Amino acid sequence: MGEARKELIGWFCSYTPVELIRALGLTPLRLLPPPGKTPRADAYFTGNLCPYVKAILETALAGEFPAPAGILFVASCNAMIHLSNIWRSLKLTPRVWILDVPRRADSLAVNYWARRLKELGGELSASFSRPLEEEALWRALEEESHGPRQDGSRGERGRERNGLSPGRKTSRPRLLLVGSVLPDVLRDMVEEAGMSVVYEDACNGGRLVGERNVTGAGERSGGDPYLYLAQRYLYKPPCPRMVADRDRRRIYLREVVKTYEVQGAVYHAMKFCDLAMVDFTLVKDELEGMGIPVLKLEGDYAGGNRGQWATRLEALREML
Ligand code: SF4
Repeated sequence: MGEARKELIGWFCSYTPVELIRALGLTPLRLLPPPGKTPRADAYFTGNLCPYVKAILETALAGEFPAPAGILFVASCNAMIHLSNIWRSLKLTPRVWILDVPRRADSLAVNYWARRLKELGGELSASFSRPLEEEALWRALEEESHGPRQDGSRGERGRERNGLSPGRKTSRPRLLLVGSVLPDVLRDMVEEAGMSVVYEDACNGGRLVGERNVTGAGERSGGDPYLYLAQRYLYKPPCPRMVADRDRRRIYLREVVKTYEVQGAVYHAMKFCDLAMVDFTLVKDELEGMGIPVLKLEGDYAGGNRGQWATRLEALREML
């Protein structure tokens, strides 16, 4: 990477508390790698590792990310932990922080994580020799409440792309896409197959922070912004990694289906992602129980077998 930009902090996971970065007057930037081959990264990882994580390392080694002053990793899965270790040993950025995050959302987890977030705030503050004031954190929480996050996320993809809102009608079948980071080509192929994507349950989509209304947050958290920050992230739409939070994931999926009048779903299972393998069974069970057919497509970060995908999407379209 080139010369580090002093104000920029890179991040990869939807559990990254970007408000802490903003509260210090720094700029959080989600680093999304382009799809493609990963010859440099392959030298550092085993063959059967997440292609998204490999693409991140490849892009960093090729010097194609904007050079941040540091990276805030979240220890969200084993592949991400491997990446953070390699990143640190190769000194790819001047600073690296690793934040662990609970796999469940309850008061014990929230209280634990609030303390951990406060520690992280202290580490960031010391690293940049800037004080982290609680008022600044409340302001950052308020600022993040307005509008879409500046991170390339596409929460309600269908609404942005097709002008759909939850209540509006379309003559095309209404589809839910589920996955981790969804390949662009899949979105395009779904549309080409004559269906409309009305919602994306993805870590650059609907699983970003949902609760944005900070009104009353002071009372709910006893005036502690770190407690509120922990609540805000741990109670957001749960990722497949929240293995002790399965019931909430089922409730969230049911709400999405109802709100967006979903008629069918496509699950993109990233190769070698154990969490996706486990999550798929839950999604299939829940959605099929509601009469919603679920098509599973396996692939990597760049896509998959396009001919096979097109045929299977066509079959889904006919079923709907
Ligand atoms: S796709 Fe799976 S393995 Fe890859 S970073 Fe996401 S959770 Fe981890």
